[in-house]
Order: sequence, then C-alpha cells, then structure tokens
Amino acid sequence: MTIAMVASEMFPYVKSGGLADAVGGFCRELSRHEETIAILPLYRSIDCERFDIRPAGIDFSLNLGGEKFNIKVYKCFDNGCENYFIYHPALCDHERLYDCPDSDLRFGIFAHAVCELAANHINIDILHLHDWQSALAAPLAKEPYRLRCRVVLTIHNLAFQGIFSKEAIERLNLGWDRFTIDRFEFYDKVNFLKGGIADADAVTTVSPTYAQEIKHPDFGCGLDRFLRTHEDKLSGILNGIDASEFDPASDPALSFPFDNRQIGRKQEEKHALCEHIGLHNSHYPLFAYVGRLADQKGIKELAEMLRSIADAPLNVVILGSGDPYHEALCKPLEGKENIRVILGYDEALSRRIYAASDFFLMPSKFEPCGLAQMIAMRYGSIPIVRKTGGLRDTVIDFTDSSPHHPNPSVGTGITMERTDIVSFMHAIIKALALYADREKHTALIVSNMKKDFSWRRPVMEYLKLYRALKPF
Ligand code: ADP
Repeated sequence: MTIAMVASEMFPYVKSGGLADAVGGFCRELSRHEETIAILPLYRSIDCERFDIRPAGIDFSLNLGGEKFNIKVYKCFDNGCENYFIYHPALCDHERLYDCPDSDLRFGIFAHAVCELAANHINIDILHLHDWQSALAAPLAKEPYRLRCRVVLTIHNLAFQGIFSKEAIERLNLGWDRFTIDRFEFYDKVNFLKGGIADADAVTTVSPTYAQEIKHPDFGCGLDRFLRTHEDKLSGILNGIDASEFDPASDPALSFPFDNRQIGRKQEEKHALCEHIGLHNSHYPLFAYVGRLADQKGIKELAEMLRSIADAPLNVVILGSGDPYHEALCKPLEGKENIRVILGYDEALSRRIYAASDFFLMPSKFEPCGLAQMIAMRYGSIPIVRKTGGLRDTVIDFTDSSPHHPNPSVGTGITMERTDIVSFMHAIIKALALYADREKHTALIVSNMKKDFSWRRPVMEYLKLYRALKPF
C-alpha cells in the first residue's frame, strides 16, 4: 500500500505549529510499515540545499479559470520517506505561510497539482489530506481527476476552514453544481474544509474527545450539524509526538540533557535557564507556557491568573507569538520581577523551557489534540490543563479518584473543568503542594517521562483505518 500525505507544513522543512510536528512524526513512523510519500508546497523559506531537494523531472501545467499555471515538482528522500514538493510562484513565493489575500488560489493550485501528480506521475492507494489547505484534493480526486485511491481527511483544527468568496468556484474549476449546502457552500461562500469532508472516504480528528466535541454547537464552528450528517465516517485518533526528535536525553538545545534516572540534571537545566532569562530564585517552582498567543489557548484567562499570583514564591516564563491583542495582554506581565515574557518563535528556547520547567500551563478553551502537553510530559514538566479535546485524552489529574481512574498512580498532571480564576487558583495551589512534596513530584515526573507518546500506537490505528477502506 502506498500512502501520500498531503499537508501545507511538515517538520523539519517548514513549521508554524503543531501540524508540522504531527505530519512529520506521522510520516516517519508510517514509512516503517508502508510506502509513504509526503507532498508539500516548496515555500521560499525551505532550505533546498540543506535537505538536498532537487527537481524530480516532473513538470506540468494546470489550466485554472482560464489561466495557465506551470508547475515544477521537486523531490528528496528522508528516513525512508519520499518527499515531493510542488512549486509555483503564486503558491510558494509569499512572506507568510497563511493569511495571504490569495490563499484560495494558492491552495487551489496546490490541491490541483497534488491530484495531477497522483493521476499521471505516481501511484498511490491512499491520499491522506491534512486540514483545509489540502482538503480541496478530496472533491478534485473524484472529479475531474478520477483518482483510483481512497481519501482520508484529518482535521487538526476545525477553527480553520478555508472560507473564501464564491468566485473561487470558477477560478479553481470546482463546478457550480458543487456549490450546494451539502458540499462547498457555507453562508454564500466557499468552504474548502466542508467540501473536503463531503467527499472524503474517512474523516479523522486528532483526538477521540475532539471528534465527539465538534458534533456539538459549542465546538462545531458552524459545521456541527454537517458533521453529524457525516458521523459514520468520522473518528478520532490521538496524535503522537516524534519521540526521537523530542528526547530530553539527546536534545542538542539542552545544556544538561537528562533521562528519567537523572532528574537532578533537570534541576541544573532549570538553574541555567533561569540565569539565561534573568529569573532570580531559581529554587522556586517554574511555571511555563509555550505556544501561540491566541484566544483558543485561553491567554486572557492565563494573563489574569498570573497577574493575581505574581507575588507568590514562584517563577513564570511565557514564550509565544500571536496577534497584537493577545501579545499586548502578556507583555505587561514583564513588569513583574518573577515573570518573563518572550515574544517570538524560538524552537531551541522552547525545548529549554520544556526541560527546565516544573509545570506547564495549557488552559485552552478547546484543543483538537495539543502536542505541547505531551512534549512537556516527555521533558518532565507536569501539565496543568483545561479538560477539553486532546488535553482530556492525555492528562489525568494525579489526585483523580473517580470510578474511571480509581488509581492515583495513573495520574499525569492537574486538570481543570473551567479556567475561571477560582478553578485556576485551585490548580496552582495543588501544583505548589505537589512541588513541596519532592518525592511525589519526582515520582510523577519519572512516570510521565516513561509514558509512550510516540507515533507507534497512532500509526497502528491509522493502518487499521486505511485497511478498512474498500480498495479501488
Ligand atoms: P497548535 O494549536 O499551535 O498546533 P500544539 O500544542 O499542537 O499547538 O503544537 C504547538 C507546537 O509548536 C509545539 O511543538 C510547540 O512547542 C511549538 N510552538 C508554538 N509556539 C512556539 C514558539 N513561540 N516558539 C517555539 N515553539 C513554539
């Protein structure tokens, strides 16, 4: 079986967030079982020399809305995976990955090029699409390309759907007959993700809880009813993390790499980080946040809570970037002696923060899967999360003694039902008490570090899903 993974970003070539990590780790593990091909845009920012990306000897042109687009295909090999890159200036030569005025054309070109590649140049059995940027390939695979393969669409975040003015129908040869309420049409606009869901043979989300949540109006982003009509083909498979990439024992970003028998070195890493970013009292518990500064992540609630506890004996570090509103909410916290706010994207610093911190804050309003809490656990930082989506599936409160988790030793972190100030304070007090009980804290760190968050189990589940789809 040959599987083509189609995505708008993939680690290590190009990354803006969790999607890139997920697709990169997934491909690497999948290629150990089945022939795996990745297909990505060849953005200007991708370093062709570093990755030995060369012309694949495949060129073709697309005729979209009466305009001709000459496509060049490039290729490289990595860890048993064959990677194809689609190049056209309109798709690739932009300053930013997303939010460009021409995004419909950009990812329309991408989806057409993927289908053309699969129709006439490479053989595939499963076309596995990720998010709205590649979702258009699901309907196009049926018409006009008539690909002889099954299509799986994975939703990494339903909040992003790729919604554009209806001119896209003609501009991208989608056909007005498909501009209907049960396909592309969404409040008189074109919705790429919706069109993809309609025609995919299977739709997955990146955690089982999120697959249930999105059928509800609170989480469905306007598509809950539509998703309920497609629920027979909807399921959730929890993402993994690339366990070799995220390994505190061999991570080159760390000054004191450590495994689960060397927790003392984690302390040294913490002292080194505190010194590096100018936090005094490095024996205080260190709370961290790494991620996008966005409404989804509960940043407003986080900032409010941090303002209230800033005088307590603890340190906080925030590393993130986002929209001006959320950045402005965090920046004033810098005024506190024990809080550091670092705006920007810094992969190496993020690893140091995961490794150095004692607690990792993730008060998300919704979370399709969330990789950060899994990375945190692997690096021995105890997650403090709101119980939603993938956070609910991966973090079990260490004091939980409900009938489902009667054994406190199965706990992995601290969970909150809500992120109001009282619930948040309660969680922080619980964390401080745990920190004071060194033996218990260390036992939890060690037990989390031993957990298997790799792609091994998820890939087994995806293989089962692929095999259950009727072959062509
Ligand atoms: P998202 O909703 O952004 O996909 P995830 O938790 O699934 O959230 O994944 C986020 C990934 O991006 C993690 O690997 C996290 O460490 C990384 N990341 C996010 N923001 C930053 C940043 N400012 N600097 C470094 N890494 C970041």
